[in-house]
Amino acid sequence: MKEEIKDFKGVYRVGWYGIKEMTSYLAHCNVYGFEYKNGFILIDCGNGFTGREIYENVKKITSKKITHIFLTHCHYDHSLNSLFFKEDGTEIICHNICAKSFQEKTYQVWYEFPHLIKPFKIEKTFNSDKKFIFDQLEIFCIYTPGHTMGCSSYLLNLNKKRFLFTGDLIMPDGEIGWSGSEDFNKDKLLKSLEKIEKIDFDFLLLGHGGYYDKKDGKENIKITIEKGKIGKWKVQRDYHY
Ligand SMILES: [Zn+2]
Repeated sequence: MKEEIKDFKGVYRVGWYGIKEMTSYLAHCNVYGFEYKNGFILIDCGNGFTGREIYENVKKITSKKITHIFLTHCHYDHSLNSLFFKEDGTEIICHNICAKSFQEKTYQVWYEFPHLIKPFKIEKTFNSDKKFIFDQLEIFCIYTPGHTMGCSSYLLNLNKKRFLFTGDLIMPDGEIGWSGSEDFNKDKLLKSLEKIEKIDFDFLLLGHGGYYDKKDGKENIKITIEKGKIGKWKVQRDYHY
């Protein structure tokens, strides 16, 4: 079945794996977005080949401009459409370790093809947990290293609901994201999971595959932590496409 835009009470999923047939052999994250008074904000932006498709999906929701993109981390399947959106004046925001990868360590962005990436600069960065306010909309950046050392999760308050975006920190069914990064760190990942376990949310929106309501989301985080504590995570060090 053809995938469509999904609406989680005001947060839309506007990008996903297989959004464009020709790129389906490449990884692609879930791209989420939401409106505020002066524009539209994305959480992650996809793999560098699908900017046009994501832009068109946003146009189906609003005529407002995509003003900002918050990146959960540097991996290409989450970040490389940044270049497409930067052309249009969109401001990219991420943790400063993540930003450094785009400028100095492109092998961190796409392990298999670092030479394909032209280093680029990030306009706005943060070093630790930080709150951004857009008109009356609050976005909390929560530093959650482990999958990479520059990973962040984001908590959004919208329409009296709390949305938690965790990128590749967790996968469905108690699994962790790809663990092949040079700076993957199991212990830090476990600590980050324990940090987000304490956060109150109504929706848990993952970087790939799944999305959960409060009950199943809490359960998934708990199972992931338990598996990590007894060394049951599937840790892969090989490349991924
Ligand atoms: Zn990743």
